[in-house]
Amino acid sequence: MRRKVIAGNWKMNNDLKETQNLISKLSSGLPLDNLNCDVIVCPPFTSLFEAHTLLKGTKIKLGAQNMYYESSGAFTGEISVAMLKSVGCEYVLLGHSERRTIFGETDELINNKIKKAISSGLKPIFCIGELLEEREAGITENIIEKQLKFGLKNISSEEIVNVIIAYEPVWAIGTGKTASPEQAEEVHKFIRSLINEKYGESISQNIIIQYGGSVNSKNAKELLFQKNIDGALIGGASLKADSFIEIIQAT
Ligand code: PEP
Repeated sequence: MRRKVIAGNWKMNNDLKETQNLISKLSSGLPLDNLNCDVIVCPPFTSLFEAHTLLKGTKIKLGAQNMYYESSGAFTGEISVAMLKSVGCEYVLLGHSERRTIFGETDELINNKIKKAISSGLKPIFCIGELLEEREAGITENIIEKQLKFGLKNISSEEIVNVIIAYEPVWAIGTGKTASPEQAEEVHKFIRSLINEKYGESISQNIIIQYGGSVNSKNAKELLFQKNIDGALIGGASLKADSFIEIIQAT
């Protein structure tokens, strides 16, 4: 039985004061010693240390939204794994569609980041998903297969167990259009079958595959009820304590 994982991607939202407010509401609204799922929040870099301090003693874990694969040096504007770990991060979002489409991140770059994160002890939440035109052209599975193949290139069986996969159809991110539970389940099942082909039955049955794309407190239950959906990656609805808590409770 896979434990569900709910992660909040705050994106470029919440300054220090807003971070303090949101975390304080989350901490008071959740039974933190008795969560029946894993909860991760991914604030912007500038809020990570504060979030880490405020989350001490709670079961909520901390993730970053990005990192670079080099250890240090002349990479202006970038953040290393060691820096993220020093402020308490255990997870990092990699391959998010906004990184791919707005910032031009390639499968190769994402693969380098995944390898660096794992080898340095940070767990990647590896995001994949098709564009609307790709779904409409009937090539969703080809896209997913390609992103998985190149994103997980040279990742061994020992390493893959540290990876969470997040299936996020790009047309559903921030649009209010969620994939139907059946549409999402179909792709999740396909992803699990690809993991099975590459890493075998046991790893494929244990790997966490989250769904992301306009998940909210109303649609969460039905999505999370699907056999191959092991949690959710949540953008907009993670910015309000009430809706994030309701989604966590839906598990
Ligand atoms: C996301 O950014 O990963 C996401 C799923 O956003 P939203 O929930 O707002 O669609």
